[in-house]
Amino acid sequence: MDRGFAEPGPAPTREPLEVLRDVFGHAGFRGQQEAVVRHVAYGGDAVVLFPTGAGKSICYQVPAICRRGVAIVVSPLIALMRDQVEALRQAGISAAALNSSLTPEDARQVRDQIRSGELKLLYVAPERLTTPGFQHLIQDVEISLFAIDEAHCVSQWGHDFRPEYRELSSIAVNFPGVPRIALTATADPVTRADIIERLGLADAAVFETSFDRPNISYAIVERDKPREQLLEFLGKHKGESGIVYCLSRKKVEDIAEWLDGKGIRALPYHAGMNAAARAANQDAFLTEDSLCLVATVAFGMGIDKPDVRYVAHLDMPASVEAYYQETGRAGRDGQPAEAWMCYGMADVVQRRRMIDEGSAPDEIKRVEHGKLSALLGICETAECRRKAILSHFGESHPGNCGNCDTCISPVATWDGTDAAVKALAAVYRTGQRFGAQHVIDVLTGKSTERTQKFGHDNQPVFGAGKDIEPRVWQSVFRQLTAAGYIFVDQSAHGALKLSEAARPVFKGEQRVTLRRDRPRRAAEVRRSLQRSIELPDGAQALFDALRAERSRLAKAQGVPPYVVFQDVSLRAMATERPQSLDDMMGMPGVGQAKLERYGAIFLAVIRAS
Ligand code: ZN
Repeated sequence: MDRGFAEPGPAPTREPLEVLRDVFGHAGFRGQQEAVVRHVAYGGDAVVLFPTGAGKSICYQVPAICRRGVAIVVSPLIALMRDQVEALRQAGISAAALNSSLTPEDARQVRDQIRSGELKLLYVAPERLTTPGFQHLIQDVEISLFAIDEAHCVSQWGHDFRPEYRELSSIAVNFPGVPRIALTATADPVTRADIIERLGLADAAVFETSFDRPNISYAIVERDKPREQLLEFLGKHKGESGIVYCLSRKKVEDIAEWLDGKGIRALPYHAGMNAAARAANQDAFLTEDSLCLVATVAFGMGIDKPDVRYVAHLDMPASVEAYYQETGRAGRDGQPAEAWMCYGMADVVQRRRMIDEGSAPDEIKRVEHGKLSALLGICETAECRRKAILSHFGESHPGNCGNCDTCISPVATWDGTDAAVKALAAVYRTGQRFGAQHVIDVLTGKSTERTQKFGHDNQPVFGAGKDIEPRVWQSVFRQLTAAGYIFVDQSAHGALKLSEAARPVFKGEQRVTLRRDRPRRAAEVRRSLQRSIELPDGAQALFDALRAERSRLAKAQGVPPYVVFQDVSLRAMATERPQSLDDMMGMPGVGQAKLERYGAIFLAVIRAS
């Protein structure tokens, strides 16, 4: 069938679209998936650069099922292999993983399956693939393709360098003619070039897609009372799973305990916990339907849970890259999800200090400061957040996405020139030796022990900004810092100093426009965001009943609920109320095997409601 795609080799034994429908229960491919799938199914090599949640696994799973032989999937994480294998088995596909977590007996069984040719997909760790024993095992087996997942691990420029990945270049030599597909969600161009070179994929077709995650809504709020703000945010996500990121282990523990006391099931996760406790909490997060995991950035790598509905940051991440990666763990199933951050000037001071006190060479520190400034710019923008995030990755977006806080309730701006001049003057007149709080005390004429001690009560700037509330001054200082007029000098204990760029503002030669932060916009934003995820009248109760049934089935099999059905399937069942197995077939995520296995059970729930 000619669909306008280049087809490098002979046709596969099964038609990709038919496999997508019958096995995975999807009506059609998304975005560039079809181009990749056809290219690989017809024997071509590919490099796939898709963001998280764009459906990368489909890109090798469908060709693997279409082609003769077994597909060998290289994956660096055992937890990830386990979930993928389980999901494939539930869809009726013969899949297995060969890794160090298997008993000798189980490993022998997998080896038998490989030899007998009954497996369609085999997941292995990179170090396993290159052992002589494994090479011998697959020597005489028909191989449909090699998929190299998390391909950025091959590059030392990436964040997860794994030396074993370097050995994977031998595949092309040892298995000529077998298609190879390398996949990654890493955005940075240096890593991409390195992947292509290291894996010998210079002749492969490169498939790239936008890094936009339209189903994720972004909101960044000014820190006021962070715990109450978090609680209010979580109120919108009752019964859902999500992650709350904090900077320190101590804060992780405190927030998890506090949330639990407020009736929200929450568990901590950080690198200081012992391995067993950490694994237990991760497992609970994967298998329970509504759990809030409070974690440091130690959590997340390789987590493939599709129905994470929110990611909240109680502290500012280190860079736009980190923010994008962490928030990207929400909404992998393509359903509406929320990224929410609460931040204040203290974050900037703390982050700057962490960089300066780190052991990295000065050149790297400068890069890190630059990355932090870029994130600060996104926090303080009066424009569409999505536009700002994508532009950081070199992608243009027209803005006004309608799914971020600045789009939903546009930010008013004001002429902040006078305020900026006063703020800069106050920093200058107090000797560029103090943090924002003290300078604001001086501006608003608040007499404290420190203002008296340093004689700042007698300065002309003392009380010069009385007409503006301290909270607004906080916002002014954050924005002046984000714009680069003021910087935080760690070598002077976090004192604010004026940069060269401040000069024309100070002299009144340049006007400054500031965003007007409004307190407590949460309720307004909530109304607009929730509309997209709410079920029609009457469907919510059925959705809850279907979820309860899914939980029961998952628990009985010891698998995560989303392996049975993802939320998107249950949501469709709750709204469309199928009355027969025929009605149910072809609904999102309902393939042949799942229909046979679960169709009647879920029909019974629908009929009983
Ligand atoms: Zn927007």
